[in-house]
Amino acid sequence: MSAAGEGWADGSPALPGVAQPAGSAGSAARPAAARGSGGRAFVEIYDTTLRDGSQQVGLDLTVEDKLRVAAALDALGVDVVEGGWPGSNPKDKEFFARAGELPWRNAQLAAFGATRRPNRSADGDPDLETLLVANTPIVTLVGKAWTLHVDEALRTSRDENLAMIADSARFFVRERRRVVYDAEHFFDGYAADRGYALACLAAAAEAGADTLALCDTNGGTLPDDIVRVVRDVIGHFPGVRVGVHCHNDSACAVANSLVAVGEGATHVQGAANGYGERCGNADLFAVIAGLELKREHELLPPGRLAALASTAREIAELANLPFDAKQPYVGSSAFATKAGLHASAIARRPDAYSHVDPSRVGNRAHVLVSELAGRSNVLVKAAELGLDLSSDPELATAVLEEIKDAEHRGYAFEAADASFELLVRRVAGRSAGEIWPSWFDLEGYRVVIEKTDGIAGGSGGSSPQDSTDRSEAIVRLLLGEQRVVAVGEGVGPVHALDQALRKALSELYPQIASIHLVDYKVRILDGRAATSAVTRVMLTSADHDGEWTTVGVSDDIVTASWEALADGISYGLLRAGAEALVPAGA
Ligand SMILES: [Zn+2]
Repeated sequence: MSAAGEGWADGSPALPGVAQPAGSAGSAARPAAARGSGGRAFVEIYDTTLRDGSQQVGLDLTVEDKLRVAAALDALGVDVVEGGWPGSNPKDKEFFARAGELPWRNAQLAAFGATRRPNRSADGDPDLETLLVANTPIVTLVGKAWTLHVDEALRTSRDENLAMIADSARFFVRERRRVVYDAEHFFDGYAADRGYALACLAAAAEAGADTLALCDTNGGTLPDDIVRVVRDVIGHFPGVRVGVHCHNDSACAVANSLVAVGEGATHVQGAANGYGERCGNADLFAVIAGLELKREHELLPPGRLAALASTAREIAELANLPFDAKQPYVGSSAFATKAGLHASAIARRPDAYSHVDPSRVGNRAHVLVSELAGRSNVLVKAAELGLDLSSDPELATAVLEEIKDAEHRGYAFEAADASFELLVRRVAGRSAGEIWPSWFDLEGYRVVIEKTDGIAGGSGGSSPQDSTDRSEAIVRLLLGEQRVVAVGEGVGPVHALDQALRKALSELYPQIASIHLVDYKVRILDGRAATSAVTRVMLTSADHDGEWTTVGVSDDIVTASWEALADGISYGLLRAGAEALVPAGA
């Protein structure tokens, strides 16, 4: 049962303390019809994942990755993709050289760079030249706006800084580029010397920059200060597009972006999934969802908001970073309710327990089953999976008994949705006298764990991989009449088993290529519930539509892992519609 449907009125109540954009000059919410095909959203969404976002620790994108991220953002429908800083490294330079390979359906490309060097001319400045060569319709120039930085970091005169901003903007305007001025440390600069901070903006605007992006570079500004400063700036620069670029060091980056738009800002910079250095940039996806669902701005092309969750996941995968289950709007737990006494109420009125309809952002609601949950929670959970147990009290009792028994042995279904569904389907099949469909039967497996010390003799020295534990697994399966034996190699026994299982199944089930392992967690349970310590493995698998979690429990880790792995693959094949060898009811 999906939570889609009645209850979430369009235009939910206003966020407390946020001025409605409609009504303030130049900031009326754009009517849906006004976007039109290929038109630009009134609030411009400017993505900086590839430049500022990639400053995040652990985020290292190749040029190929960068092109894929750009394509995903373009497909989602953001207005601007900032590709990088071509002057800072060869990788970004190559990205711009290859950016033309992408179809670019929605977004325009921006190149980022600093204002010209002090006491030099803009003409002939090598960094500006590199920016020009990137050949993008938009050039974003970062420049100082805080006296402290002019005096201490730039070590030049304040007038020279103003000239650097103006000259650099004029240089690109003359080359018919659209110029965005990123006013670095603007809010700190404003607090230190309002007149000078505004003079920096004026220098850019008078030179032809069409957007003034106020950056909270240190991320320490709170929403009420953002409101006050943005209001003041917009009053000073009528007719110029004013935007914000907020960092999350006070956990306010999204809130600051939203209140800035409330004040009339029409350009928001941020990064996918909130990536960025230190505490990150504003999470662009939360900004988009908030403005579309709660402020009736139409930011993305029609229908694209529903691609938000899958885009967020896709970019996390390209970034090779774990996807945060708690990420607002798009995380797998964002609409997961732990059913207590109110399980039936959740089923009746999902809108009473979620702030928006999850299907609008391509997510879905979950009811978590926990050990303390009773019969009603199991019914709700099964109903969510499309299995109506309420009409069959006997079956409901059988499922409940099985779950209680499994939980006693150490299983936890709270997060292991897929194992729960497989269990319900197996019990349901059994009580109907049917045979649960299966894709493979295990005859046996063997795992060999090999430990090396990293000093590989005679074969070209040691790489980091040589010093990890290599394991080898042999899996013997029955696929109907056919017996298949496959060998897999991997880092650790689970990886080796996964490789062997995939190899054994790949010919019969090509769908397996799209199923992959995303997370693996092991917990040793003490002997409280069971008579001896047992190992519980939680394994998360994913395909391009989403992810699911399975659980395995045993005295030893390999058996527990196998169980979670076999369930994970079975569930993936079920999702993919792969025809089972033993059909239901056979
Ligand atoms: Zn930044």
